[in-house]
Amino acid sequence: MTDSVHKPEALVTLDGYAPSDPGAGTSMAMFPLFGLDVAALTEIFTNLGEKAYRGRQLADALYKQRATDLDQITTLPQALRDRLAAEGWEVGRPHIAEAFRSVDGTERYLVQTGLQTVETVWMPEGDGGAEYSDDSDEESTKESASEGSRSPSAGFRRATICVSSQIGCAVNCQFCLTAKLGLQRNLTPGEIAGQVVSVLDRHKVELNRNRVNLVFMGMGEPFLNYDNFMAAVNLLIDEVGIAAPRMTVSTSGIVPGILRFAKEKVRPKLAISLNAPNDDVRESIMPVNRKWNIAAVLDAVRTIPFRNREKVTFEYVMLGGVTDQPEHAEEVIRLVRRANLPAMVNLIAWNPGPGIAFNSPTSESVAAFQQQLLAAGIQTYVRRPRGRDIYAACGQLKRTTEGAALAS
Ligand code: SF4
Repeated sequence: MTDSVHKPEALVTLDGYAPSDPGAGTSMAMFPLFGLDVAALTEIFTNLGEKAYRGRQLADALYKQRATDLDQITTLPQALRDRLAAEGWEVGRPHIAEAFRSVDGTERYLVQTGLQTVETVWMPEGDGGAEYSDDSDEESTKESASEGSRSPSAGFRRATICVSSQIGCAVNCQFCLTAKLGLQRNLTPGEIAGQVVSVLDRHKVELNRNRVNLVFMGMGEPFLNYDNFMAAVNLLIDEVGIAAPRMTVSTSGIVPGILRFAKEKVRPKLAISLNAPNDDVRESIMPVNRKWNIAAVLDAVRTIPFRNREKVTFEYVMLGGVTDQPEHAEEVIRLVRRANLPAMVNLIAWNPGPGIAFNSPTSESVAAFQQQLLAAGIQTYVRRPRGRDIYAACGQLKRTTEGAALAS
């Protein structure tokens, strides 16, 4: 890279940012364009003495036309594309390295980010959970992609993409397979948004025809990678074209993150990973509760100016014998009432994972728990388990290569 082009300030200060490795036979590291906002892309061109509108053209090519190579960006003259490459720039979008398909149509991907992979999940027709409550005809429209083929956009009416924010996780929830990895590193904005665009590209999704929800509930704690997470959200809203209310971020209860989130002008919906009826049980399964207990988390959530009809979702992983009993439901009812928030509850039957000593709840206990909350007037959903057979379900993401692999 010559002195005439400097990397935008935001690029060099991104936590976890690293240029990609030099290819075999080359001596120069390449810098990814994917992940930069239009202001940073424009700055690249103005530093090259080019017209500012080239930045907008490049942003459209990266985020709307989903170009994966500079050669595909024909809105830029060949000479300009050559110059970008000579200056060390590449598209650099993360790509799907491996794909696994469940019998229920769910697909789990290992997405290549630098030398490591991160997990992303595609759920055609959503998972029936609380964040999709505006989709009232969930069951009647279920279709799965035909085996061995990529789903054309006409093959589903809506879908949910579960996105990771970190490789591994430091929060150490005792029921979660991702926790076993520990925190390896934060993902950059391009690596977070790139999971979404790669999956949209794979399924040829047309956002003006298909309804796509995003849930930031994959590997990692988004609020422990706050700046990169929000930068990715802004790219996905402004450039990719997914509306903020179609996104939900789940946090284990990182209070400083919730307080910052409350001040965002444009933001996804919020889910709190509650998972327990009281502090004692929560502390035993979520060590983060020692730092920020339930009351502290709820105080932080109360600072959020909720939009009209917006609700916070309390995610509640049901562990057989630990959190699924009628007395637990009674405590949850009291807790939700005391919280005095526009809220709903999403029940998730715990998904088994190797090396984790909990039991799944019975379907009867899940149904009874839901009925108890509904009878108390609390909007309560049961999340349909998706992709258990390919380790794609909640709490199962650990970069495992088990399951029916597809060509990526
Ligand atoms: S449940 Fe979420 S926050 Fe907890 S360890 Fe797993 S990935 Fe991290």
